[in-house]
Amino acid sequence: MDTQSTPSSGTATTSLTERPDAADEKTLQTVIDKVRDIARERAKQLTPDTNVVGLGLDSLERMEIAASLEETFGGRFPDDVLLEIETCREIADAVTRYLGPAAAPTNVPRTLEDIPPEHYRFDSMPEIVGMKKTIDLLVASGATNPYFRVHERVAGDTTVIEGRELINFSSFNYLGLAGEPSIVQAAKDAIDRYGASCSASRLVSGEKAVHGELERAVSDFLGTEDVITFVSGHSTNETTIGHLLGPGDLIVHDALAHNSIIQGAILSGARRRPFPHNDARALDELLRDIRHNYRRVLIAIEGVYSMDGDFPDLPRFIEIKKRHQALLFIDEAHSLGTMGITGRGLGEHFEVNRNDVDLWMGTLSKALGSCGGYIAGCKEVIEYLKYTAPGFVFSVGLPPANAAAALAAIRFLENDPERVATVQARAGLFLRLAKQRGLNTGLSDSTPVVPVILGNSLHALQAAEKMFERGVNVQPILHPAVEESAARLRYFISALHSEEQIRRTVAATAEVLAEIDPKYARKGR
Ligand code: PMP
Repeated sequence: MDTQSTPSSGTATTSLTERPDAADEKTLQTVIDKVRDIARERAKQLTPDTNVVGLGLDSLERMEIAASLEETFGGRFPDDVLLEIETCREIADAVTRYLGPAAAPTNVPRTLEDIPPEHYRFDSMPEIVGMKKTIDLLVASGATNPYFRVHERVAGDTTVIEGRELINFSSFNYLGLAGEPSIVQAAKDAIDRYGASCSASRLVSGEKAVHGELERAVSDFLGTEDVITFVSGHSTNETTIGHLLGPGDLIVHDALAHNSIIQGAILSGARRRPFPHNDARALDELLRDIRHNYRRVLIAIEGVYSMDGDFPDLPRFIEIKKRHQALLFIDEAHSLGTMGITGRGLGEHFEVNRNDVDLWMGTLSKALGSCGGYIAGCKEVIEYLKYTAPGFVFSVGLPPANAAAALAAIRFLENDPERVATVQARAGLFLRLAKQRGLNTGLSDSTPVVPVILGNSLHALQAAEKMFERGVNVQPILHPAVEESAARLRYFISALHSEEQIRRTVAATAEVLAEIDPKYARKGR
């Protein structure tokens, strides 16, 4: 039962196969009941030999089963055991061995002397030791650590790292607005007027005029009734989803949904169910089977998926949400400013009625070149969030400089949507050229996110390093961020990139991949 980052502690060196004593019927039945609680309609015929992974439970759901058993029986499963057990019977055997008062050997300390250092020292905690080992292995392999690279100026079409200028494809500066002089000036002016911080939550005494101006501007830009802004995109999702949904509700999200959506779902206490990536039909079938078991149902999707560069068929999701009387939430982090003729996102791209999506979420940190997040929707929900959402009420107001920069970016786009067309054209060029060179760009579909999939983390790391040597900064995406078979280089295209920079980069990518393994650049894929 691979639960990936299971927070349980203790180490077991004994393998289950060495152990003769099996679980009794009662324990087995409790395990089956717990699995049924989580798997619901996916567990129509549960037997002791049912493979829990085979039911289609994701790692967080399997963690839930483990946590629930730990709560019922007392004690903690050791980490390495969780990696080994898959069937209900194996889980029940592990319960018998490791959980409950009679479990022997127990991993629950009985006296202070029994408490192992991994329970109170960070440098002994298995997840921290494990991460350090991964980094050490990376360094020992001779590769340069591709993380935390220091950019010495604004990261636009080019950047400077270690004193060298490189063509840059690793930033979300889709429209080049993060360094745009009028936007930078607006941030400076806001600091001169309001200072560097709001020094309080907006609700109590941090409100500045620029907050209201920004929210009205975003709301007018999108054509929604109202908007609330938060200090980060991540906390926008976490607090909004976490606050509006609760126990008894259901959150169904795309399997590739961003971490902030999943964290919000966990925080809410609602049931959480992923549906296969971009598969509206699977979502429809799921809701047909289980919608009636819940109070509120939130469908969470994204405007452009940041790993693959594809996007959902929004009208289809709207039709489904209406038919099942659900709420629809769309995260436009990567579609605001990049989709639609004037950058108004996926709603503009599909020309949908703004009121057909309940919550339009976006970040200020990508196309708008600032920092923060927003929720746009009907005035009732925005007012409710402003008075009650924990990440708003109990957090400082968006810094004046960021609010002013985002406001200036909206004005810039309203006056001159030219850059939207430019980023779309450059992204199209990149994708076309990459396909011509036989690179595997996966699902990317004319958005400024273009992966080049290698399916080998070491090769992706080597490719990023070779690209760096050739003067191109592109980030490798390695296992476990994606499945090993999906390890890749990921290019974020900006309106600032010239056609020449794109041609050079695609050619260099094809050459580098061919150097690593000729199979990566076969023509006419
Ligand atoms: N949603 C999505 C889809 C994202 O990709 C990100 C960040 N990359 C966020 C939310 C969080 O936004 P921020 O970085 O502005 O906090």
